[in-house]
Amino acid sequence: MLDRYRFIKTMSNPLTLGKYSFGVGDRFARQAKPQLQACLQAAAAGIDVTPVWNKSYREHAIVGSTPASVRAAAEAAVSELKWTRPFHVDADHIRIDTVDQFIEASDFYTLDVADAIGRPAGTQDAQAFVDRHPELVGSLHVSGIEEPFATTPADIERIAAKYLRAAQEAGRLYRHIESRNGEGRFITEVSLDETDSPQTPIELLVILIALADEGIPAQTIAPKFTGRFNKGVDYVGNLAQFEKEFNEDLAVIAYAIAKYNLPQNLKLSVHSGSDKFSIYEPIRKALARTGAGIHVKTAGTSWLEELIGLAESGGAGLGMAKEIYGKALDEIDDLCAPYATVIDIDRARLPSKEEVHDWSAAQFTNALRHNPSCEAYNPNLRQLLHVGYKVAAKLGDRYLNMLDACQATISKNVTENLHERHLKPLFIGC
Ligand SMILES: [Zn+2]
Repeated sequence: MLDRYRFIKTMSNPLTLGKYSFGVGDRFARQAKPQLQACLQAAAAGIDVTPVWNKSYREHAIVGSTPASVRAAAEAAVSELKWTRPFHVDADHIRIDTVDQFIEASDFYTLDVADAIGRPAGTQDAQAFVDRHPELVGSLHVSGIEEPFATTPADIERIAAKYLRAAQEAGRLYRHIESRNGEGRFITEVSLDETDSPQTPIELLVILIALADEGIPAQTIAPKFTGRFNKGVDYVGNLAQFEKEFNEDLAVIAYAIAKYNLPQNLKLSVHSGSDKFSIYEPIRKALARTGAGIHVKTAGTSWLEELIGLAESGGAGLGMAKEIYGKALDEIDDLCAPYATVIDIDRARLPSKEEVHDWSAAQFTNALRHNPSCEAYNPNLRQLLHVGYKVAAKLGDRYLNMLDACQATISKNVTENLHERHLKPLFIGC
């Protein structure tokens, strides 16, 4: 049975993602350097974190940017800071209708097949999957998971019916990219996170096998985890449940690598929606225990540090930060619509424009900065501004020129945020 899985064993020198990697998005392509600075600080502490600049079609459409600008910003930072380790540019959450414009600039592709979950793949296909994988039926022991999975043919068929179409879509997308870039010349992630219900460990196993069946050498997989992953704010959910699932997912991945010949470096990708600080500790413990790798995406966090840097600069920078908040309030419905499932904003707790107009720099940054122990921290304001980058995009050069004017303060905040609040708790512990 193993012969059907060839993958990177037959590839010569495939592009391989490092064990620890971090997806840093950069809405306006101005923060690559301070972001990379955070990776340099981690490297100095002995932690090798590969930076990946990810930007989705949705972000490009809202900002009016192109994938080439992401690579240009990344390459400029890499050369200025003399970064000699690997880095990548991720075509984030792409689909068959959006992938082509990413080909030139990207060497990492996040195949978003969440929409295909639950779409019929044909009952024959699900049946054929069960016939092909009799090893999944009965009592299935996965090392690292206490209770064996107890499954009937009907269970496996039901799971296969739910996810096979997504795996088939991923295969179509993968082969399309491979035909343009060449085998082994790019990193593949498969994402299933933008959907309603989380995937259980046994579902994840079936998904991985289905991806293996499709011949996709996935190096990262982004399931939907249990709990709320709202934009820009901390995790909301049962932390113990998350930890259990996360550890079981790690066990399932190790099992799938060994048994189905998936790439040796296949690892979980956590699409965090920025700043899920409370899950970092259980993740760090799990990685230390198992030796597994991880990819974490936290794209929006740097844009909020831009705003904090503007506000902290005072004067015109603070004025622009307030202007952006005011406009975000005016356009709240429009800004929130594309993110409706991943924000929980209590509008009654949003300060009015007039109130914010009188704020000092410290009042603005204390409300916005992600410091839950600060009394003035306002997660509602933070979520609104997280999805409010369209307002800044509409300011065009006025915004970009203000970034230039305040860059020293912004850089300090971007680097400190990534290093102190993300890389350190995740990989070093504090
Ligand atoms: Zn995602």
